[in-house]
Amino acid sequence: MAQKNLQDPSRPHWPEAAQTLMALMHAEGEVARLSEREQLFSTLLVSVNAVLWALDWETRQVLYVSPAYERIFGRSADLLLADSDQWRDSIYPDDLDYAERSLAQVLDSGAVEDREYRIVTSDAQVRWLSDKCFINRQAEPGQPVIIVGIAEDITDKKHMETELLRLATTDALTQSSNRRHFFECAQQAFEHAQGKDEPLSFLMLDIDDFKIVNDTYGHQEGDNVLQRIAESGRAALRRGDLFGRIGGEEFAAVFPGCTPQMALQVAERLQREIQRLSFSHEGRTFAITISQGLTSLTAEDPNVESLFARADAAMYQAKREGKNRIVTT
Ligand code: GH3
Ligand code: MG
Ligand code: MG
Repeated sequence: MAQKNLQDPSRPHWPEAAQTLMALMHAEGEVARLSEREQLFSTLLVSVNAVLWALDWETRQVLYVSPAYERIFGRSADLLLADSDQWRDSIYPDDLDYAERSLAQVLDSGAVEDREYRIVTSDAQVRWLSDKCFINRQAEPGQPVIIVGIAEDITDKKHMETELLRLATTDALTQSSNRRHFFECAQQAFEHAQGKDEPLSFLMLDIDDFKIVNDTYGHQEGDNVLQRIAESGRAALRRGDLFGRIGGEEFAAVFPGCTPQMALQVAERLQREIQRLSFSHEGRTFAITISQGLTSLTAEDPNVESLFARADAAMYQAKREGKNRIVTT
């Protein structure tokens, strides 16, 4: 007990000097702790791949920006503090409207956490940012409104999302749309055409005697044929046309805004081009033919499936009539 009292600097009978000394030592410890925390904080700010920022809403002045700004934007932080427009000037032109509108929403909602937009860095790279922003709630009434934010570089994540979407929508062998994606897009094109009373054509394409190709030249050569035919199919398209691999050796195309006559011309050109392709396998050369079924949108079609069914039936009629031909229905 006596020991404890001796160590207690608040004991009234302690000499004043000793009390002052203890207080000073305490303050020094506090300073050391603070400076340690500050160091930790700045280490964090330097290493994190996100820009922390603070903006005075009225004056539009950037009050603070963390070191990652220079790394991500490739621009000087000092220049930004002197001229707030520097940030705005970095935003990808197509995204500028959105970036400004979504920032202003913070005044109503207090926080906007789903802002994503692109910037162009000083060396002309396009980067994606997730730029969350919040109103500084500590501001007293009459005090300036300060918006604080954290802008994270999500370029890699965006590229991965794009790649995942590509993988989910394309056929790995031919790089054409896969069946599911083709029909989703085809249904959209169908609804658009019906709504606007515009023409639309649907084409089915099936390789003739493809089983013989596989049996004679091997599955790998068969794969090569599929790839070349997909290339020809894509090359025959105009902007806005759809093309996809909807089965093993079956492809389909949708031509929005295309009259039946124009669609037939495309099909005929494709028929000739595929016939002209020359394949060679171990010294033997061979050619390929296709059968096509073509149909066009009518007022009675309830969905794209009904066009598909008609085009498919027309394609099978082409097979029955001897293959290597186009049947229009
Ligand atoms: P038809 O002229 O009546 O269309 O006859 P076909 O031989 O083309 O049609 P069939 O449906 O009998 O055979 C299609 C063949 O396509 C059978 C299958 O092995 C082959 N096939 C399906 N997918 C692939 C693929 O990814 N690669 C290869 N190499 N062959 C495939
Ligand atoms: Mg088939
Ligand atoms: Mg076939």
